[in-house]
Amino acid sequence: MTAHDQMRAMLDQLMGTGRNGENNRYQVKFSDTKVCKSFLLGCCPHEILSSTRMDLGECPKIHDLALRADFEHASKTRDYYYDIDAMEQLEAFISDCDRRTEVAKQRLLETQEELSAEVAEKANVVHELAEEIGKKLARAEALGEEGLVDESLKLMGEIDELRKKKLEAEEVYRNSMPASSYQQQKLRVCEVCSAYLGIHDNDRRLADHFGGKLHLGFITIREKLDQLRKSVEERRTQRKAEGRDRDREREREREDRSRYRERERDRRSGRSHRSRSTSRSRSHRSRDRSRSRESRRRDR
Ligand SMILES: [Zn+2]
Ligand SMILES: [Zn+2]
Repeated sequence: MTAHDQMRAMLDQLMGTGRNGENNRYQVKFSDTKVCKSFLLGCCPHEILSSTRMDLGECPKIHDLALRADFEHASKTRDYYYDIDAMEQLEAFISDCDRRTEVAKQRLLETQEELSAEVAEKANVVHELAEEIGKKLARAEALGEEGLVDESLKLMGEIDELRKKKLEAEEVYRNSMPASSYQQQKLRVCEVCSAYLGIHDNDRRLADHFGGKLHLGFITIREKLDQLRKSVEERRTQRKAEGRDRDREREREREDRSRYRERERDRRSGRSHRSRSTSRSRSHRSRDRSRSRESRRRDR
């Protein structure tokens, strides 16, 4: 990006499409179906995973920072329910990815030399310690870059402990099989991004994986999906509760009305005690009918 492009992007982000009225490149509003709703919410996988090994190419829908700014402004006073669109897109994307992970695991089961349950368990201990080291190392490096030296050093201390444990676990694993088998790379599939991780991968390689744009991008997408699911669910419960309140309110009004009518009738006709009771039971019946109609309507 040139300095000029960068400046332009920054202004778009700040001002929306209103700036001089000249920067609405696509001649659409953010609510247009051609606009990517996930992008407006900052979670389009096409953007998050761009220039990684899993680059999805350009999003088929419009991405425009100025439209995102318009949306952010407008959504302060109105709910557009775009979280539902975004949730659906991310759900489809993640379930695709999880399917790939299952296929990769299956392929490993078919192609990797099978280990006995006991040895597999030992291999898993090594895998898990290695992955923990990789994650912490990536985190420590990120903290160091942010200038949080103390936190970073604390993590490095924890990593030293884990390395000792891993050496022991490797020893146990190595002693459980012939040397030639031990040499073979044993792979495992990363549950987050479905990449392959090897049991002989060194700390550096694992840190690059766990601190890399691909793996972190998947974490961002998965976290965002959790958030969206939660907010959509909350709103659904809220709407349902409001609906129930409305129904109850309507019911009460209806009862009041019929009671009033009944009293009016009684007053006007000056009926006897007996006939009043029949009229009341009739109104009960009609109330029951209207109630069951109401509940049928709600079930639909
Ligand atoms: Zn998009
Ligand atoms: Zn990963």
